[in-house]
Amino acid sequence: MAETPAAAPTAAPATVAVRIALRTAQITAAADRDLAQALADAQQRAEDAPSDADPVERFLAQLALGVLQQRAARYDLALSLLRQALEAAEQLGERSALGAVRRALGNVHVEIGEYAPALAEFLHALAADEAAGDDASRAATLRTIGVVYSKAGDPEQGLQFYRDSLALTRALGDVPGSARTLNNIGINLKNLGRLDESEAALRESLALFRQLDSPAGLAGAASNLALTLHKRGDLAAAEALQRESIDVAQRAGYELALVNAQRGLSEALLAAGRLDDAHAAARAALATAEAMGSRPEQARCLRALVDVCKARGDAAAALAHFESFHAIERALFTEESDRKLRALQVSYQVAQLARQSAEDPLTGLANRRSLDARLAAEWAAVRSGGSAHGRRLSLALIDVDEFKQVNDRWSHAMGDAVLRAVARRLREFCRESDFVARYGGEEFALLLPATDVDGAQVLCEKLRATLAAHDWNALAPGLRVTVSIGVADDAAAADVESLLAAADAQLYAAKRGGRNQVRAPLQAAGKKPSTDR
Ligand code: GH3
Ligand code: MG
Ligand code: MG
Repeated sequence: MAETPAAAPTAAPATVAVRIALRTAQITAAADRDLAQALADAQQRAEDAPSDADPVERFLAQLALGVLQQRAARYDLALSLLRQALEAAEQLGERSALGAVRRALGNVHVEIGEYAPALAEFLHALAADEAAGDDASRAATLRTIGVVYSKAGDPEQGLQFYRDSLALTRALGDVPGSARTLNNIGINLKNLGRLDESEAALRESLALFRQLDSPAGLAGAASNLALTLHKRGDLAAAEALQRESIDVAQRAGYELALVNAQRGLSEALLAAGRLDDAHAAARAALATAEAMGSRPEQARCLRALVDVCKARGDAAAALAHFESFHAIERALFTEESDRKLRALQVSYQVAQLARQSAEDPLTGLANRRSLDARLAAEWAAVRSGGSAHGRRLSLALIDVDEFKQVNDRWSHAMGDAVLRAVARRLREFCRESDFVARYGGEEFALLLPATDVDGAQVLCEKLRATLAAHDWNALAPGLRVTVSIGVADDAAAADVESLLAAADAQLYAAKRGGRNQVRAPLQAAGKKPSTDR
């Protein structure tokens, strides 16, 4: 989230970037105060926005709902809302909108442990921040990247990103941003065993959250500081801070902070040997997790209960809790695999559709549609001078001779086999920069950049001879296949259509001239063929 200071915009209409920054800051603050209320308000706002409303407003409503559902740990719902928001952002064509959604999407991926897609989203967001020169947003993105590295098991690298983020938030006077980043730095340092530094960072974070009167921030930082103090052996201070965190989180209705603090309290009490109190705290944590409907949290609480029950010597209860824990873990693992599989299937289908729309199914060559697109692009390059000076673009149209007879004498299946074989020879003949397509029935097109018509004619003559010399008997005894080719380049053509027409006229001339030959417009005498081969 971008914690931009919520300065009121001037009388001039706010830019989209400013509106997004303001709204995300509002969403974060509202969620920190009272998540359930924030969700209800966002829902109402989304329903109130008519479908023909201001597109920015509709986008903001979707973004808000997605972010809030993530905070409520409803990750599948959050993902689908944010994907809709991403589409809306793409339609808006606003960098800041794209950055905000991608960061929100990345946050959901982090929560469900999908670090590679999370990082991909955040790097997109960072590029958008940099392009927009938005330092406040960049600070927030750097912090989230730090979270990915930390959770993926590289706290050192995570710390580096947090430090970069903190330098920015401090320079910008972004106090909520500094408080959040210091909290993350404290967690990392604790995990790295640097307890002095961890305590210092968390104390500063806590002080800032107190100053900001941010209950969710305060609840989180207090609980994290408690964990560090617990590790240092100061169990009394840990207990006091966890109890404060529980109190604040309960009042703010922030269940995620509540369940963490309740579990932390149980662990501190267990370490202090107060087994009955530890048991009560762990049961309270489990009840919160169940009320949240969050199975990952339930699993964590059950695991804590197992330890408490074992310490109390209640082996039967420990076993029962362990079995519940194990069942949830197994279900979560399956769902996670399912989700990853679904995502893979979707991207495979998208790739397949893209291929199908560009490819000819019989030969696997580019289809007419791709040829048109490529021809337009090459034409634009050669006409804008994008291709080196004096270079030409050539087009060859290739038509199989008397192909109808192949179908008639052998079979349609044999005709298909011949078309596939011709396509294979064409592909082998082509270089990386050439482009070969099936133009229609038994016609093919060959696009030759940086080649003039004389060069193209030389090449096509080679191609014609290769095809004529091919051992077609292997396909069917007595089979002979030849092609006629018409060539033209862009020199005399006004546009793509006249280039096609010129090549087609040459093809017609080749057919009239007796087939199995290459025809090209006459060139100025004495000019050497030009091709960079
Ligand atoms: P020409 O030398 O004048 O080009 O003679 P031709 O027989 O090749 O030309 P014509 O245009 O009369 O016939 C082309 C034939 O190609 C007709 C059509 O049935 C066949 N054809 C077009 N597409 C396919 C295909 O996908 N598979 C098969 N087997 N035949 C096809
Ligand atoms: Mg034909
Ligand atoms: Mg033909």
